[in-house]
Amino acid sequence: MTANDLYDSTIIGGGPAGLSAAMMLGRARRRILIVDDESPRNRFTQHMHAVVGFDGAAPDELRRRGRLELAQYDVTFVTSSTTRVDDDGDRLRVQTDAGSYATRTLINATGAVDELAPIDGLAQLWGSRILHCPYCHGWEVRDKRIAVIATALMGLFQAELLRQWTSTLTAFIADAGAVDETAIERMKARGTQVNAEPVERISRRADGALDIVTRDGVATTVDAVFTGSTLIPRDLGLPDALERTSTGFLVVDGNGRSNHPRIWSAGNAANPYANVPMSMGNGSAVGGAVNLALVEEDSALVLSAAAEELPAIACNYASA
Ligand SMILES: Cc1cc2nc3c(=O)[nH]c(=O)nc-3n(C[C@H](O)[C@H](O)[C@H](O)COP(=O)(O)OP(=O)(O)OC[C@H]3O[C@@H](n4cnc5c(N)ncnc54)[C@H](O)[C@@H]3O)c2cc1C
Repeated sequence: MTANDLYDSTIIGGGPAGLSAAMMLGRARRRILIVDDESPRNRFTQHMHAVVGFDGAAPDELRRRGRLELAQYDVTFVTSSTTRVDDDGDRLRVQTDAGSYATRTLINATGAVDELAPIDGLAQLWGSRILHCPYCHGWEVRDKRIAVIATALMGLFQAELLRQWTSTLTAFIADAGAVDETAIERMKARGTQVNAEPVERISRRADGALDIVTRDGVATTVDAVFTGSTLIPRDLGLPDALERTSTGFLVVDGNGRSNHPRIWSAGNAANPYANVPMSMGNGSAVGGAVNLALVEEDSALVLSAAAEELPAIACNYASA
């Protein structure tokens, strides 16, 4: 292997987090590989909001512009899935469907997958009429008929939050878990309808509105639904020894570094609650942290090489 076969950092995931990390590293004159399989978390929505400079833009627009900007640096893109990462001691080996790559460091910026409640119609309308983030999509449905389907206790909080966007709000709480009565009182006090019947299905009407049909057969017609999801980390075959949280995400320190000295996480892979700007900020910070670790290793390598040469230098002096 020549030095040219070795990347300073390989970033798995070319979303907001991965591109931002690459921007820092590329501008630091590092040799970077981005492997991306083009399935970003927000691909189900047409418009991205709450992202300064891109408010209302298609999510792909940010990715497209990011790639274009990164083209001036030493950043290579490979469209492929990463299937395995092996620890080769002083480097990692990244296996993808397109080939295998050696790298000094790795940034896991693979985002997360939204696992949805098994309600008929929910997955089909996810991202268009069924939403999860009031800050991202609440403004567009302000003052409309909104429902919250609470699938965990956090859903009750989501219902209280959404009251700010509309006064025509119904909270479906059957699947929320052990509901605190005071939360129901708070919702009712602000005019929110609370429905305790389990939701069976959601269907789109000819006029574009949504019917939420509960087990008793009653349909409630609304314009938008908010619900939560369970976030699942994307699997990229990282070494088993990596420490993970109870939900399967990598445990990282404040700089995004895992318990493996060559592996970091950024964006939703590190913080499932991060939106696009938070993922970009985090990716940028992690990019800087990885560069610092590379600088430290560069210095250590030069020092150890110099230390090995010392006797020879001393010998040369002696013979001179
Ligand atoms: C429906 C919906 C709408 C949203 N709307 C908004 C919004 O309006 N505003 C906002 O701020 N946030 C929004 N979000 C949240 C937003 O999607 C995330 O905050 C953001 O995508 C996180 O960025 P990321 O770079 O961490 O992950 P991602 O954007 O998901 O990027 C991860 C990348 O990694 C790649 N990848 C994953 N695994 C592998 C692998 N094994 N090999 C190779 N590549 C891999 C994927 O293809 C993807 O391109 C929305 C989320 C959803 C679900």
